[in-house]
Amino acid sequence: MRIAIGGIAVECCSFSPLPTRLDDITRLRGDELHAEYPFLPSLPEAEYVPLIRGRATPGGPVERSAYEQIKQEFLDKLREGGPWDGVYLDMHGALYVLGMEDAEGDWTASVREVVGEDCMISASYDLHGNVSPRVMANVDLLTAYRTAPHRDVTETRERACRLLVHCLMHDVHPNKVFIPVPLLLPGEKAMTTAEPAGSLYARIPEVIEAYDLLDVSILVGYAWVDEPRATACVITLGEDAGKAQQAAEELARDYWSRREGFRFGMPTGTVDACIEQAQALPEKPVFISDAGDNITGGGIGDVPYCLDRLLAHGITNCLYAGIVDAAAVAVCFDVGTGAEVSLSLGGKLDTTHGTPFEVVATVLKLDDTLTTNRHAIIDVQGIQVILTERRTAFTTAAQFDQLGIDPRTYELVVIKLGYLFPEIAPMAQHALLALSPGAIDPAVENLPYEHVKHPIFPLDREMTWHP
Ligand SMILES: [Zn+2]
Repeated sequence: MRIAIGGIAVECCSFSPLPTRLDDITRLRGDELHAEYPFLPSLPEAEYVPLIRGRATPGGPVERSAYEQIKQEFLDKLREGGPWDGVYLDMHGALYVLGMEDAEGDWTASVREVVGEDCMISASYDLHGNVSPRVMANVDLLTAYRTAPHRDVTETRERACRLLVHCLMHDVHPNKVFIPVPLLLPGEKAMTTAEPAGSLYARIPEVIEAYDLLDVSILVGYAWVDEPRATACVITLGEDAGKAQQAAEELARDYWSRREGFRFGMPTGTVDACIEQAQALPEKPVFISDAGDNITGGGIGDVPYCLDRLLAHGITNCLYAGIVDAAAVAVCFDVGTGAEVSLSLGGKLDTTHGTPFEVVATVLKLDDTLTTNRHAIIDVQGIQVILTERRTAFTTAAQFDQLGIDPRTYELVVIKLGYLFPEIAPMAQHALLALSPGAIDPAVENLPYEHVKHPIFPLDREMTWHP
């Protein structure tokens, strides 16, 4: 039994003016990929052959030529290495390619064309992916994360592979039921650590058991893309078509019935309101998510608006992580640690939502551990700002350790995230979500959609729907 592995996983905001280029996409090939799939040795014996997988920090639309180049390499390798019994596609599901609609639909159709109808294709998705009928027609199996914040990335990949091997070994051809549920949900409103998503997702194992299914996925979808397929959905896989259908309808009905309950999982407000609320809270540090410019959701990361507001409020003992500004980092390295310098911060990449912000700063620290992404820490009137050369989301404790920074020692931490990642959340005594300007405004009602499929909640609040 021979199984090829590959894919492309980029979460793309179609409202972002900053395209994702080939250089922004990390491409791992062959043996470099084995570390991503540590479970392979524990799967039934087969030849697992990783070919190429592209992955990037969430961002703007992928340039067409970059996408085509990666796709072509994967298809060539598939052709050269075949025939295959199965293909595992390691995807995200919210890929948006300039000049193309439903990029994963194109990817899966192209793979199907190369490997033929007899080869079984299994895909794993982030639950923030958008699924389309075209994708469902081209894959045999699709499974998605069940946690947000994501704690089951490897588990999901393993499930996709196990399902594939199981079906190949037992000659199972599952019935797939895909029901789009007309909801546009920002991730911050559908965290599985809060209600109503928590108890909805908790139903998955119980539904699999009750209906004797192979797998069930519930997807939140990705709202910051202006495409007809942008929506939540339910997918069931089972040998019995009737049961798979029944289970999918039951979950879709349940999902829909909870629609009014999907609210921000953290206290939410304007940047000014969040700063005022943070000042009033006795336990420190308070974390404020600069959510409109959240890099992990596809925001660009150089909108300096929050720094402007922090200074206006006279805030000190504050950490701002961070602003991407290669030119400012270069200036800091030129003048050196301890120097005072005039900087024009941010507003250079996301010119739609920000303009450069003039400050006088002291350079506190320079870090060139990553030669392609040097960091500078500056002080602006008591606010310490981390500047990065490349778009950098602060999602792990190690990133702060490397800089010799302990976020717990500040009263206020402003961070370009939406919900706080699992390693960051325990640092915060309180976490607030600021509806700040940026490409991924969490208030999706404000986005200039032209292509989403109507009616959809909450854009069409009064709609009725049933599966
Ligand atoms: Zn996600």
